[in-house]
Amino acid sequence: MRIEQDLKLGFKDVLFRPKRSTLKSRSQVELKRSFIFKNSQVKWEGVPVIAANMDSVGTFEMAKVLSQHQVLTAIHKHYTVDEWKSFIKSYPETLNNVLVSTGTSESDFVKTQQIMSLSEKLQFICIDIANGYSEHLVEFVSKMRETFPNKAIIAGNVVTGDMVEELILAGADIVKVGIGPGSVCTTRVKTGVGYPQLSAIIECADAAHGLGGSIIGDGGCSCAGDVSKAFGGGADFVMLGGMLAGHTESGGEIIFQNDKKFMQFYGMSSQSAMDKHAGGVANYRASEGKTVLLPYRGPVENTIQDILGGVRSTCTYVGAARLKELTKRTTFIRVQEQENNVYG
Ligand code: 5GP
Repeated sequence: MRIEQDLKLGFKDVLFRPKRSTLKSRSQVELKRSFIFKNSQVKWEGVPVIAANMDSVGTFEMAKVLSQHQVLTAIHKHYTVDEWKSFIKSYPETLNNVLVSTGTSESDFVKTQQIMSLSEKLQFICIDIANGYSEHLVEFVSKMRETFPNKAIIAGNVVTGDMVEELILAGADIVKVGIGPGSVCTTRVKTGVGYPQLSAIIECADAAHGLGGSIIGDGGCSCAGDVSKAFGGGADFVMLGGMLAGHTESGGEIIFQNDKKFMQFYGMSSQSAMDKHAGGVANYRASEGKTVLLPYRGPVENTIQDILGGVRSTCTYVGAARLKELTKRTTFIRVQEQENNVYG
């Protein structure tokens, strides 16, 4: 047994140190970034925030709104090929900004081939399993790279540089980083496994960038400041679940309690998700996700503007005219306090 003594940090452990800046207004900040991904050479330009591939976040309705902001949506993997077909026909303008999600089973592979063959404009495949350390994921990434040499492949989730490198060398363009930080995740409680998200991002970004790859900081953002911290730590993309849940476009079940409107939101390994998609929790596994009721938040438009406005504002505080410069302009200070909670 070994103990690593280095302190690992989460978003709540740091704040940005402000820096002198010539920027007069948030409107001068460019959030768009352009990428040419390492293995596929796919080119993409947009705002590198991604709605998570969860049932009540990564919906077609979400993609319609977010793509107007050039923000990405990872469409969850439970839509049928026919549902994809009609979405593609009706909303071709969104396709540059959607990701096709998949697991690693043979039927997932076949379905992904069917979906990808519907339109040349689909260019992202997101291969997502809870434990990205499985040898099986590496083999699946290689198989997908052979099948789709010109598509951007995302793979995860992992939290350490060694595994980031292995996935990029196996053919991934972008590695998804995060084990345990999610708002409806119980992995850390159920298994004792995890890694504080800011340190995971900092270390994984370093490993990926060394090979010309990219990373997504996935999970753990509870406010716009956390999104900025993820970018500041080196994330090329930031994936959001809970911050985008509970909206009209999220498509969760609406529930009334004491005359107030709520929307159900659950983790993709929760009892709710497994009841819905897998006929219950298999007897060899435990659920690793929660089900919660969120106050209904209306259209996602205001929320996404608020998040992007917050990130722009961070950039003005540290003098980054473009989001791309934020990491270079970032000095984090370790703190023991965040917001003032006098008024709750
Ligand atoms: P959030 O933005 O809500 O903090 O985190 C979203 C991320 O949590 C998702 O993108 C996914 O990686 C992770 N996640 C979603 N559902 C579950 C679950 O049931 N269990 C675990 N361990 N993680 C989940």
